[in-house]
Amino acid sequence: MRFATRVVHSGHEVDGPHGSVVPPIHVATTYDRFAQDPPTHFYSRGENPTMAALERCLAEVEGAAHCAVFSSGQAAATTALSLLSPGQRLVCCDDVYGGTHALITGLRRFGVLVDQVDLSDQDLAAAALADDVAMVWLETPTNPLLKVIDIAAVSRLAHARGALVVVDNTFASPALQQPLRWGADVSLHSTTKFVAGHSDVLGGALVCDDPALHRAFTDHRTLAGNVPSGMDCFLVHRGVKTLSVRVERQVRTAQTLVDLLLDAPGVTEVLYPGLPTHPGHEIAARQLSAPGSIISFRYAGQVEKLLAGTDLFACAVSLGGVRSLIECPALMTHRPIPVEVRVAAGITDDLVRLSIGIEDPTDLADDLTTALTAGL
Ligand SMILES: *Cc1c(COP(=O)(O)O)cnc(C)c1O
Repeated sequence: MRFATRVVHSGHEVDGPHGSVVPPIHVATTYDRFAQDPPTHFYSRGENPTMAALERCLAEVEGAAHCAVFSSGQAAATTALSLLSPGQRLVCCDDVYGGTHALITGLRRFGVLVDQVDLSDQDLAAAALADDVAMVWLETPTNPLLKVIDIAAVSRLAHARGALVVVDNTFASPALQQPLRWGADVSLHSTTKFVAGHSDVLGGALVCDDPALHRAFTDHRTLAGNVPSGMDCFLVHRGVKTLSVRVERQVRTAQTLVDLLLDAPGVTEVLYPGLPTHPGHEIAARQLSAPGSIISFRYAGQVEKLLAGTDLFACAVSLGGVRSLIECPALMTHRPIPVEVRVAAGITDDLVRLSIGIEDPTDLADDLTTALTAGL
């Protein structure tokens, strides 16, 4: 089955006695042993049939053997990072999701050595991975600068050191990028974003091929209790069915808006992996099936007026939903980062990030043009 069919059909065994064409929402916390032959369900902190259906779906969608789902992307990250022991070293890309940055910083308290490196620079990546390392963590494209990291190249270096490679695949979604194909060991998703796609449910996932790794994730989840509810699993499973059509539309509109921004008054730079001038363009063209629907740009006008000047773009954090969003990382998502660190990384006050939804492209273009003019 091809991707657009898999997102609709995966994990959807028809419910025997009733013939319902969608998986039922199981809300039971506990299961009667003698009513099952053989007994497979025990307690919902470990497993639940609605959760299991979603896991089969997301594993198949990403072309992997296993998937474990979680109550949020952060919950999935917490479980993945729980593999690290005191004295071990984690190498993480520098432009990383704010929540991940806080989690890995917290690991230092437990004696884990943490190095943040620009892994989109092949020389810096090689130098960082020349020493002992237990885990390499990367996002590509990164947030909000949309830097592109070569998953295959980093995985080769990491595996030579025996390190595990975790790719946060939230920005690309399984529709555009499948990290395990490029040698990564684990693909992480905040399913809150593109996978569920409607900004109405939190969720996370860890996708992998190795059964022992999967077992470690589900064992940790059972103990940590960071499981999603049956209702949440149903919503994510319902959302993923339209992933293919949503992303197709979102990418097409993003490309139109990139063209608009390149010529727009006040826009001094457009960051988008689909542009031939983007430093990661070549890797992106190989690694991603399309350049995505997140656009960052630098704006010479008044950013606050631009944010307030849009009608259709909600000024909000998060991304990947059906509704278009606009945000200023320096004021919003990346505000907790110390100013000098943020600015040195290129996340300056004039940087604006768009997440393109599925609205009519002409309406979005008109709205953006009005707002860009309002800020000048
Ligand atoms: C949102 C996000 C997360 C965290 O996911 P939550 O579902 O909000 O916990 C992790 N990584 C990236 C890239 C994200 O955008």
